Amino acid sequence: MKIFNTLSMRKEEFVPIEPGKIRMYVCGPTVYNLIHIGNARPMIVFDTARRYFEHKGYEVNYVSNFTDVDDKIIKAAIEEGVSADVISQRYIEECKKDMAAMNVRPATTHPLATREIDGMIEMISTLIDKGYAYEKNGTVYFRTRRFSEYGKLSHKNLDDLRSGFRDLKVSGEDEKEDNLDFVLWKPKKEGEPSWQSPWSDGRPGWHIECSVMSKRYLGDSIDIHAGGEDLVFPHHENEIAQSECCNGSIFARYWMHNAFLNINGIKMSKSLGNFFTVRDIAAKYDLQVLRLLMLSAHYRTPLNFTQELMEASKSALERITNCASRLKDIAAAGRPGEMTEEEKAGLEKARAYAVSFDEHMDDDINTADALSDIYNLVKYANINVPDDAGAAFAGAVHDELAGLCDILGIFADVKEESLDEQVEAMIAERQAARKARDFAKADAIRDQLAAMGIELMDTKEGVKWKKKS
Ligand code: AMP
Ligand code: ZN
Repeated sequence: MKIFNTLSMRKEEFVPIEPGKIRMYVCGPTVYNLIHIGNARPMIVFDTARRYFEHKGYEVNYVSNFTDVDDKIIKAAIEEGVSADVISQRYIEECKKDMAAMNVRPATTHPLATREIDGMIEMISTLIDKGYAYEKNGTVYFRTRRFSEYGKLSHKNLDDLRSGFRDLKVSGEDEKEDNLDFVLWKPKKEGEPSWQSPWSDGRPGWHIECSVMSKRYLGDSIDIHAGGEDLVFPHHENEIAQSECCNGSIFARYWMHNAFLNINGIKMSKSLGNFFTVRDIAAKYDLQVLRLLMLSAHYRTPLNFTQELMEASKSALERITNCASRLKDIAAAGRPGEMTEEEKAGLEKARAYAVSFDEHMDDDINTADALSDIYNLVKYANINVPDDAGAAFAGAVHDELAGLCDILGIFADVKEESLDEQVEAMIAERQAARKARDFAKADAIRDQLAAMGIELMDTKEGVKWKKKS
């Protein structure tokens, strides 16, 4: 299997540190709002990579954080007159719902920055002790010139960067030894959340979070670190500097970055009004359509989101589900008994699409071409599995199709199953809220289920549900 590594800017054969295991870290969202469809791209593509690694037999330890302390969260809290915690908790919950609806599996661990402050203080102290960081007036900076490999991920020329910064010096930053030095810890401003530290009451810089959470949950050296391409510099470059100087070992061996999603060819932004949340899309479409759209492009190519592309993805999904449904019907009611010789040969042909699918996915998770294999299998099945085919043959072709779709997180069999899972998860969440005597939350979930047309019934055997007729 080959993976394009931003460090070398080449596709490299993937070899994990520990045979059969993959340690993977994906930078997660800053939780100050509902996630937008740009945020959904790394979630979907790296969830798909994870599913494929598991299909190949790897055990994947998948860690993805929530950045729950940040200027934007604090601003939102001030605007609403609530604490930053209320904002971040709310949007973590909402983000998890969107993830479930996009069939993005929960990470093995979803650490929160605010729960890892001790680890951050420890790493910053180590960096100071080793001479890689210094404190000025309560702020701690990373001393970039001490790390000779700084710039190795973003392939930037540091002298150019430094001269570019010369005119940008702003007051308060003059205390830095070097323009490229970045903040590890900063003192609090009035009204901001803060933690005690040896340097000041304050909060961590953004980059240190990921270095610490990756170390804690995956170890000093990991296999894959991933995120959107905007994170290459400075975020990931700084993570490398912090982790490698602190731990004295290679931080991540493969760096995967997804390209951006644009809207009608224009960068998505709130001020331009061309901004869609995942929830906006969910109001009009099954989010399986969004997932399919995301996978229709290779993750390293920019993706242009348009209404036409959504409609095309909707039709493509229907072609898949219609085919699966027909195959299932034949498998249930078709001719019983063993496959004919002709059917056995037909199944071999169908299986060839799965081989091609794996070859495409082995080539840097090429979901675009892997989807073509699925469409080719659909075309093959529509022509070569007639209505009077044997049940065994139709069933085997169905399973082949459903199996490939499953690797991409797409349900070939119509949504009832995904609805079941979603409803069961929401009921469990509601039960947990009740147990914690958080009745407001429990009621909110009941209302949400009602809006989805789901009626709850409390019975002796527990909570049961049905779709309202
Ligand atoms: P943020 O909350 O801004 O830190 O973003 C969370 C993740 O979403 C990061 O991996 C970003 O790189 C990614 N991301 C943000 N906007 C887009 C976009 N328009 N297209 C693709 N990825 C994006
Ligand atoms: Zn990060």
